[in-house]
Order: sequence, then C-alpha cells, then structure tokens
Amino acid sequence: MDMFIAGEWRAGSSRVAVIDPYTGETIDDVPVASTDEVEDALAAAVRGADAMRRLPGSERARILGRAADLLDERADDVARTISREVGKPLAEAAPMPSRCAEIIRLSAFEGTQMRGETLPLDAHPGAEGKLGFTLREPVGVVVAITPFNYPLLLSVHKVGPALAAGNPVVIKPATQAPLTALKLTEIFLDAGLPPEAIQCITGGGSAVGNALCSDDRVRKISFTGSTQVGEAITRVAGVKRLSLELGATCPMVVMPDADLATAAEAAAVAGTVNAGQVCISLQNAVVHEAVYDEFVERVGAAVAARRVGDPQAQETQVGAMIDANEAIRVREWIDEAIASGARLVVGGETDGAVMTPAVVADVNPEMRVVRDELFGPAISVGRVADLDEGLRLVNGGEYGLAAAIFTQDVSSGMRFAREAQAGNVHINWTPLWRADFMPYGGVKGSGIGKEGPRYAVAEMTELKTVIVHGVGA
Ligand code: NAD
Repeated sequence: MDMFIAGEWRAGSSRVAVIDPYTGETIDDVPVASTDEVEDALAAAVRGADAMRRLPGSERARILGRAADLLDERADDVARTISREVGKPLAEAAPMPSRCAEIIRLSAFEGTQMRGETLPLDAHPGAEGKLGFTLREPVGVVVAITPFNYPLLLSVHKVGPALAAGNPVVIKPATQAPLTALKLTEIFLDAGLPPEAIQCITGGGSAVGNALCSDDRVRKISFTGSTQVGEAITRVAGVKRLSLELGATCPMVVMPDADLATAAEAAAVAGTVNAGQVCISLQNAVVHEAVYDEFVERVGAAVAARRVGDPQAQETQVGAMIDANEAIRVREWIDEAIASGARLVVGGETDGAVMTPAVVADVNPEMRVVRDELFGPAISVGRVADLDEGLRLVNGGEYGLAAAIFTQDVSSGMRFAREAQAGNVHINWTPLWRADFMPYGGVKGSGIGKEGPRYAVAEMTELKTVIVHGVGA
C-alpha cells in the first residue's frame, strides 16, 4: 500500500517490505517517507487544522459514525490484515474491527460533549459585574505514533478522539505492521473526512517519528510504545502536550484464599494472548507460599493446554511473535533465569517467530524475566510470605501500568487497590482487562496521560478562559 500525505496516496522513493512473521512471506510493501514528505504532511496537517476547526461537532460526529459503519463492513479484510502483519491468531483479530467501530462511535459522542463552565467570578474580590466562562477548543495538529502489537485498536484510541475533538491527525504506524493503519485512513477518507485532516506516514521510527515529534507545528503527541522510545520523544518534543502509553511488567498477586482454579486459568490466558506482546500482559505472578506449589502446577497445566500454531487456523490461540529475533531474545532471558536458579515448568521451545508459551517458577526480582519488560509468551512465578512482601515486589519495579490481586478478603483487596502503584488495578482478575471507555494509562515508567475516548478528548483539547468585563451585577 502507499502512504497518504497532503491529500494524496504517495508511493515514495524507497519501500520496505511487510512480512508475515509466521510464514516469513512478504505480504506487501510500504513507502519509507523522506524528510520532504514529512514536511509535506505537516504543512498539510496545519491546513487540516483549519478545515477541522470549521467542521461543526454534529458533522464531525456524522463522519465518525460513517467511518465506524465502514469499519464494520470491511471487518473481515481488516481482521485478516491485522492477523497477517502481526502474526496474531485470526480468532483474536476477528473481534477487533467491531470493537474499534464502537470506540469510534464512543469518540464521536465524546466529541459532541466538549463542555465549558461558567466561573463564579463574584468570589474574587472586585470581580463583581464580570462574567467568566471556559471554552474547550481543539488542540491542533495531533501526531499518533503506534506500536506493532495492536495496530487497529491503538490507532483508533488515538485517531477517534483526535478527530472527534476537531483536530487533524498524522498517524505514524509501526514499521512492522503499517497496513492496518493505512486501511483505517482509507476508511476515514471514504467516510468523508477532509483529506488534509488525516495523514498516514510510513517509514522508520527514528527518522520519521523524530521529525514529527520535534516539530513545533505539532501540538500534541499521542504515543504508545516502549519506554525507551517514549523517553527519546520527551527529549525532542519541546513545549507540546504528550501522552505516553509505555512498557510494563504487569504483576498479579495470588493470596492463600484465592480461587486458584480461576486465577490459574485466567493467568494462562493473560500471559499468552498475542504471544505475550501486550502491554497489560501478565508477566509476574507473585504467589503466597501457602498456595505456591498448587498454583505453579495449575498454571503450568493451563499454559501447556494453549493451542499454538498457524495464526490463520481458527483453533489457534497462540501464534507468532513479531519476528524470530524476538523469540530468540525471550528464550535467552528464560535461559538466563534458569542459570540463576529459576525452573522452567513448561514451554519455551522456539521455531522461527513462534515460542511455545512458558511458565518459569522460582524467580527472584533481580532476574531480567521479572525486572525488564519481557513482551513474550512467558509467565514468571515468584514466592512471597505475605501481602506486605507482595506489595513490595509489585511496587519495586520500574513500571506501573496494571496490577492485579486474587483474594476473597475485602480488606486485602482494598489495601492492594490503594497501595499498588499502577494506573489500573484488578481485584479477582488478571491485569489483562480493559473496557474501552475507562481511563487507561500507567504511572512511573509506564507513562503519562490517559486514554479512553472521554479522557483522550480532554487531553486533545485546550481550555480557554474568557472574561467579559463590565456586564453589570
Ligand atoms: P517501539 O517503541 O519500538 O515503537 C513504537 C512506535 O514508535 C513505532 O511506530 C516506531 O516506529 C516509533 N518510533 C521508534 N523510534 C522513534 C523515535 N525516535 N521517535 C518517534 N517514534 C519512534 O515499540 P514496539 O516494539 O512497536 O511496541 C512494543 C512496546 O509498546 C512495548 O514496550 C509495549 O509495552 C508498548 N505498548 C504499550 C501500551 C500501553 O498502552 N501502555 C500498549 C501497547 C504497547
């Protein structure tokens, strides 16, 4: 596919292949944008800001509604594209288009709710006789940079609110999986969006991403990706709004009174969905010593039962990682843990980009499989004596996206909710759960800002304060 810049599809002067990670086949190619093309995109986006500002909220909502319907109509093609460019099981990709159509509809609604308020200026001595109110206005050019793992979901969580709030958006999808975002761009154009209000630029992150992030015409960067790249963006962004949805090592505490069968079954799914390449994937099970052996046995059996194979086969639950090097890296981290005293309970066999899902028991917090973001299909299990120790482990890491606890005890659950340093806390489920309308985002190394259409619209708008002087008492 070509990229969409300044109102036209452009082939670019050089191209990069898009590879199916499972088969190794080239499924398509896309342009590598030059600096001139990034410049064209930004100049067009500034014109797009004018066009969007002139569109009434009702019209923006109508366009987004049409885009949602088109996404529903094209669901099969979009799901297959996601599955092939990511190596994600088709069964996982299939519900994505309809879920994302709903996010677009939700965004359309939130874009019609950009309210201000009147200010009680008489509370300020000497301000009687003045009238104050706030207006919520579009922020301006939004740059949306997305990772490879959820190419539709994470694009829609940015593009939907950006457009709904009256902004133009420049999408920079991940190099490995750009096709879905290009198809999404096509959908918004077919839905009647002013062409300069959306651009989709393909090419390398460091060149294209850096050029976009450092430009003063951009008023807001909405980035989802690694903590390393997020930090690089903060260094070049200058004075503009930033939302950073970054990495994680999500933990789950299992207390002695937990429903162990449910905890183990849910953990096996939460650690292996999308081959573990999910920011809220379960990485670290932190298990009370009283139920440790039983939990390890149960989770080992549940993980072993996950069906690994061809992502295109309906029955497959665990497909490929994004490339073979990633599978090798994850296996190396597991080997390193084993060499330091951990025990491989199940899995860990690699074949190209596929790794059979693994459970690694008897870990400690110094091991890389625990400390650093693994982003692969493996769950580490460590033993603790009580909730105090569990909380110390949960809060001892660099990240804070989502954390979970399984317990029947209300006090333990509530204490965990208050004390766990994470943007989302789950009681009696794993970290891997999200309703799209809820506020979603991390603390510490996991980032800043919240997504979810209502919160994203707020972060993609500016509040202007207006004072009318001398209007009388
Ligand atoms: P990545 O950080 O390598 O790349 C993300 C995007 O940034 C890509 O589009 C890439 O091309 C671009 N990029 C690279 N260098 C850049 C630069 N210097 N300036 C601007 N953009 C640049 O991440 P990835 O490997 O695609 O995805 C995996 C990561 O994403 C994991 O760390 C995962 O936790 C994170 N993630 C976080 C969330 C969340 O909601 N917190 C959700 C999904 C993924």
